[in-house]
This record gives sequence, C-alpha cells and structure tokens, in this order.
Amino acid sequence: MKILCLESGGTKLVAALADLSGELLDRRIEMRSSGQTAEVTMHQLRRMGKDLSRDTTLAAVSQGFGGTVDRSLGSPTLCYHETGWDQVHAQSFLTDAFRVPVFIENDCNLAALAEYRFAVPKPADTLLYVTIGTGIGGGVVHRGKLVELGNLGEAEIGHIVVEPEGPECPCGNHGCLETLCSGPGLENLAHRIIGERTTARLIMSDFKAGDALADRVCSAAAGYMAQALAPAINLFSPDTLIFGGGVMNDNAEYLSKIRHETLPRVFPPFRTSCSERFFLSSLREDVVCQGAAIYALQRLGELDPH
Ligand code: ADP
Ligand code: ZN
Repeated sequence: MKILCLESGGTKLVAALADLSGELLDRRIEMRSSGQTAEVTMHQLRRMGKDLSRDTTLAAVSQGFGGTVDRSLGSPTLCYHETGWDQVHAQSFLTDAFRVPVFIENDCNLAALAEYRFAVPKPADTLLYVTIGTGIGGGVVHRGKLVELGNLGEAEIGHIVVEPEGPECPCGNHGCLETLCSGPGLENLAHRIIGERTTARLIMSDFKAGDALADRVCSAAAGYMAQALAPAINLFSPDTLIFGGGVMNDNAEYLSKIRHETLPRVFPPFRTSCSERFFLSSLREDVVCQGAAIYALQRLGELDPH
C-alpha cells in the first residue's frame, strides 16, 4: 500500500509515491503552463498520479495546495496564481478518480509538518516554519501535529501588513510582507533602494560577496521580516524557526540578519527559548510531498506524531 502525494504550486506540479513509513519512493514533475486554470491542473495531476500508481494499491491521496483550503469541504477555494478553484471540487474529483480517502492541505502547512519531523535538532514543542519563495507562507506544528485553527487556515505571515502605504498585494491589501520580501518582493525593494532592476538571486549573491547596496536591500528586507516574525513569535511561542523557499537556499548570511533584526522585538520571556534556534530548511524540493505523506499517514492513524 502506498500514499499518492500531489503538489500543485505556482511553477510545478509533482506526483510522488510514499510507503507507509512516509518515505518517498518515486516522483514525476511537470511544469505548469502560465495562465493554466484549476481544471487543467486537476486533470494534469490525475494523469500524473494514475501513471505513477498504475501497478500500486493506494491507501490515500494527499495533496499540497498553493493557496487557501476550505477544511470543511476538504477542498481548495482560492489561489492567487491560478483561477477557477471556486469552480472545481478537487476533493470529489480525486475521490472519483482514485476511490481512496483524499486529504488536501495548504502546501506550507504540509512543508511545516515535514520540517518538524526531520528537523535536527528536534523542536522541543513548537515549530514556526516560514517559506520565502514566489510568495511567503507559514505553518505551525506543535508536538508533531499541524496546528489547525481556522476553517480557512492560519499563520498567513506573508499577508501581515508591514508598510501600509506599500505595494499592492494580490490579496487586495497594501504592503503585505510578501510584496517586499518574497523573491519578486525583494526585486521591488531593490528597485526602490538602488534604482535598478535586478533579480533576487543576484541581490543575494552580491549581499554574500559584501556589496554595500545589496546589504542595504537585505537590511531593509530583514527589518520587514522582523516586523512580521516578532509578533508571530509572541503569538505562537515557537522554540524553533525554520526558513525554506528559494530565497533562503544556502542563505545562512541572510538568516543571521533576519534573526538579528527579529530577536530584540520579541517579548523577552519568549526570546531565550528560540534565540539559538533559527535554522534553514533541510528538505528543499521534496518538502511538500514529504509533508503530504506524513499528513495522510497521521490522518489514517498509521503514523504517530512525534
Ligand atoms: P515557489 O515559491 O514558486 O515554489 P521557490 O521556493 O523556488 O519557488 O522560490 C522562487 C523564488 O525564489 C523566485 O522569486 C526566485 O527569484 C527566488 N530565488 C530562487 N533561488 C534564489 C537564490 N539562490 N537566491 C535568492 N532568491 C532566489
Ligand atoms: Zn497580502
């Protein structure tokens, strides 16, 4: 018996098989076409999943979704990079296709679950996971279980407003963290500070090489990150923070800047437990499918949270 893990994000679609211990065995990756709708994505995922599980008995299907999931329906409802999710009932579509239990959760939340499980050192109790990529997302895991607080999710750290007059966000607000510190956000910030168009990748490589202008951009960005992270730490009291996503790849220098800006703003009694526990993600590309496997196995009662 296997778990079919699916991932639908802004750039790629992934189907993977996991065994009942949660280990990923095999995967298929296809790029998403720009402008593709929810319906096309679901058909593509079904084809990839069928192909991969042809000779396999499935115990469940588990999907990580790059947007908002309505937990009472068990289905995605909203996504800022893909239209049509209010028209497609992904839960019944996958149930009809595979005839096994189907679990769908926000991709960042699943990533958080995987990071908690594989973190070294292990979080004492509570992990706050933050991904900084095309967007910024968060997830909280407490004692091995995803913290699920609202029907439509929680820990949307990327949509905390850090500059009320800032750039417009796809969510409709202005100056959300994501508009200034995601990959594209950093590019906007650099344009504002340096007056030139550049890429997030270049900003980070210049910053690591000691470039003064790139350092100004990263300092400003780390300041915005701190404005959102410190209240998140005050609210959830995590003992461990893990940072993933393209912007954080091998980026210990920027992580250290974020930590340095954040800690002084944290409620002092909460500072000590997390001050030495800001880490980079260790799972990278597989993190969402890995989390999808763990989530399904926990829901099926096959895997204890720890
Ligand atoms: P997604 O968020 O779409 O799943 P990623 O987590 O890979 O994908 O994030 C993509 C974003 O990260 C892009 O905006 C890209 O510019 C940025 N990025 C990718 N690699 C790096 C890097 N080495 N340094 C800084 N930014 C990067
Ligand atoms: Zn927003």
